[in-house]
Amino acid sequence: MTDSSAEQKISAPSLSRAKRVVIKIGSALVVDPDLAAPRAEWLAGVADDIAALRARGTEVVVVSSGAIALARHSLGLTRPRLRLDEKQAAAAVGQIGLAQAWATVLGRCGLTAAQLLLTPDDTEDRKRYLNARAALETLLSLGCIPVINENDTIATAEIRFGDNDRLAARVAQMISADQLILLSDIDGLYTADPRTNPDAEHLPIITALTQEIEEMGGAPPPGYSSGGMRTKLQAARIATESGCAMAIAQGGQPHPLAALMQGGRCSWFLPVEDGRTARKRWIAHGLAPVGHVVIDAGAAKALADGGSLLPAGVKSVSGGFSRGDLVLVQSETGEEIARGLTIYNSEEARRLAGHRSDDMESVLGWQGRPELIHRDDLVLKQG
Ligand code: GLU
Repeated sequence: MTDSSAEQKISAPSLSRAKRVVIKIGSALVVDPDLAAPRAEWLAGVADDIAALRARGTEVVVVSSGAIALARHSLGLTRPRLRLDEKQAAAAVGQIGLAQAWATVLGRCGLTAAQLLLTPDDTEDRKRYLNARAALETLLSLGCIPVINENDTIATAEIRFGDNDRLAARVAQMISADQLILLSDIDGLYTADPRTNPDAEHLPIITALTQEIEEMGGAPPPGYSSGGMRTKLQAARIATESGCAMAIAQGGQPHPLAALMQGGRCSWFLPVEDGRTARKRWIAHGLAPVGHVVIDAGAAKALADGGSLLPAGVKSVSGGFSRGDLVLVQSETGEEIARGLTIYNSEEARRLAGHRSDDMESVLGWQGRPELIHRDDLVLKQG
């Protein structure tokens, strides 16, 4: 249902309206693999974009990977998979160059970079969390650009994010950012891997992290990258459940943030509240009903009180519909009470009508969900 044209009409957030944004930049963008050095020109373009955001009043926090990638060559650590102690060593060396690269490009735009190295404890332990948050708030109020990485040198295997996608989401949550942008080598989420499947469709807006969406995550790509779509979807869950919108956008071109502000292609994951509202709007206006169910007064009251529609309150079912179709819910006098997406098809719904949830197994021959329409998939008629 995520790729329905009706749902795509839901308007996406826009970076140009962000108040406080976390921008996560992966190693492949920051580090030139041939030179094993920062991609200075590209970084300078990003710094310009950040300066433009700051000039419009947007607070910006950068989460930058690249420490390990910067140092691994000079240390002769070129195997695709490094041991933890080797990663710790590479990070200790590379982080100096990484921070220097950011300080240089931001400095040229008149901005002051501030380095923060965090471990999961800093975002999860209450006291340390408050401490890290206070430091970030002060840096932002002083007009600095915090540049954050994981403290890989002291992180152990058990207490390690291991990927900066989730670290960035935790940071966004910690400082109540309204947007998190993951700059990546791909312009968003696809229904399948677009490198191998020509039928893969790009999803511009994701209103809910359903199982169907989770399954689009796939395994991490080969090579040095530690993320992949799976960790991006984990980041999306952390961010959206904290009320922060998240975008996955192509970062490879010069000035990737300016490109995004000018409407560049990306996938937006809506914050949970917005996602729910958007989904409800889509149920209310975006679909044609294919059947209706008549319910009794007790069920109507339960719906008005925010409950789900249970089969026990259903008096009759008309039309031929499949699971997931939109059906109208009517009173016994024929008035529309609500509309929603049905969990059962019309034949099952007819059999279940009037039965209590306890009887469902004997009626259906299998134990199904107790509701006919779940309250998250139901919109009451206004007025
Ligand atoms: N923190 C690691 C680094 O700076 C990278 C983790 C990631 O690739 O997400 O090298």
